[in-house]
Amino acid sequence: MTTAVPAEVDLFVIGAGSGGVRAARIAAAHGAKVAVAEEYRVGGTCVIRGCVPKKLLVYASRFAHEFEDAAGFGWTVPQPAFDWATLIANKDKEIDRLERAYVANLEKPGVVILRSRAVLADPHTVRLAGGETVRAAHILIATGGAPSLGGPIPGREHIISSNEAFHLPALPPRILIQGGGYIAVEFAGIFAGLGSAVTLVYRGTNILRGFDDDVRTHLRAEMERHGIAILTGDTVVGVEQAGGAHTVALAGGKRIEVDRVMFATGRKPNIAGLGLEKVGVRLADNGGIAVDEFSRTSVPHIYAVGDVTNRINLTPVAIREGHALADTIFGNRPTKVDHAHVPSAVFSEPEVGVVGLTETQARERHARIDIYKSTFRPMKATLSGRETRMLMKLVVDGTSGRVLGCHIVGEGAAEMIQMVAIAVKMGATKADFDATMALHPTAAEELVTMRTPTARYGVEAAE
Ligand SMILES: Cc1cc2nc3c(=O)[nH]c(=O)nc-3n(C[C@H](O)[C@H](O)[C@H](O)COP(=O)(O)OP(=O)(O)OC[C@H]3O[C@@H](n4cnc5c(N)ncnc54)[C@H](O)[C@@H]3O)c2cc1C
Repeated sequence: MTTAVPAEVDLFVIGAGSGGVRAARIAAAHGAKVAVAEEYRVGGTCVIRGCVPKKLLVYASRFAHEFEDAAGFGWTVPQPAFDWATLIANKDKEIDRLERAYVANLEKPGVVILRSRAVLADPHTVRLAGGETVRAAHILIATGGAPSLGGPIPGREHIISSNEAFHLPALPPRILIQGGGYIAVEFAGIFAGLGSAVTLVYRGTNILRGFDDDVRTHLRAEMERHGIAILTGDTVVGVEQAGGAHTVALAGGKRIEVDRVMFATGRKPNIAGLGLEKVGVRLADNGGIAVDEFSRTSVPHIYAVGDVTNRINLTPVAIREGHALADTIFGNRPTKVDHAHVPSAVFSEPEVGVVGLTETQARERHARIDIYKSTFRPMKATLSGRETRMLMKLVVDGTSGRVLGCHIVGEGAAEMIQMVAIAVKMGATKADFDATMALHPTAAEELVTMRTPTARYGVEAAE
């Protein structure tokens, strides 16, 4: 069935991802006439080839540890066998279900879904791939981002991104992943857990640039302990394919033979060919679309939310921005989004959850900083015999006592940090944490029982 293209709308949304869908849905609920164009699948990166399928693969990969650990608790588990095709088929079924739910949620308040690429024809007109045009009082650009494989190297055509990793015909026995960000680290854990031999190559000195240094060091050690080979300070300069195998050449001179090569070397905003220059929409220094605190671009009735603005590229942020925009334009409720204290997780093995400032950031911004840090063997690992340690770290303003940052590596870190984020957002102090009764036996109780700072900065200067 083809959808009739409306001649005119109050809001035209380009891109039905996290931000675009929320903005369209809420604007329509406020009574606006809304159309949304989507060139691939409704739901966008997060639902179709990002957070959701990734987390399903993460769940799958973690069974490996569970089977191993079970023995220490008295279970005899027959040799487990894993079938990639079953996992991918079940994952695809769930993604199809979610896409249908997103479509239904848009259609319920009357949003017109146009399955087409859309570009700006002039400041008030959007053009679809078939040449049809739609006049719009307001236009929202919510086109997200796409994997960036970096500069050209020989054999680039043999390299996959996270997009293709979700649809591989078979689990590669050996995979090389280039990148040090959260997507690279997460896929390293997924493939290793499912049984692939994984090599992670990153040009920097350590993985997870921008995270707290203790988190980076701790996670790297844990990943290496789990058998992932991490090569830092090196980079892929070429890939040759012969038969089913790929030989990867590194700048440092190493040659590594693997079955798949994946790059997770960053993402770039989807702005090519959108017609931004033609209508006067300006870009920011970060390469994304420049917006003000109400998501307005340099053209007042054209807006941008989510990854295309390249600020905090996370789904809940895009959703918040889209919602705030709809409330601002059509709900008679001007709403800004507060981008401070956004919690984030890395679904690596083990998991990372962080909120607030790193130790380095805190020391740059505050005169006195107290650090509370603890590493310990989680209770579950005692009987399982697994060699693993958790890290918990609080970064505290030594003057006000306010908790500025919390950093956790270990099982359940993401779930824990969502709750800690409430306290940090509310301005909780270390004394508030201390006054909170511990819940025993948990790993999280460590957060309220760390009594003595492991490091203090700026104390002498202040005394
Ligand atoms: C592998 C991976 C894992 C991730 N994991 C997490 C996670 O665990 N947690 C988290 O919070 N975030 C995660 N993210 C990030 C998250 O997916 C994005 O931040 C989020 O999807 C951004 O939403 P958005 O609305 O800005 O764009 P998107 O969701 O990317 O949606 C943009 C949509 O616009 C469409 N489009 C683009 N150009 C056009 C055009 N010209 N015409 C019509 N349609 C167009 C695209 O097809 C797409 O559907 C992950 C991303 C990846 C790649």
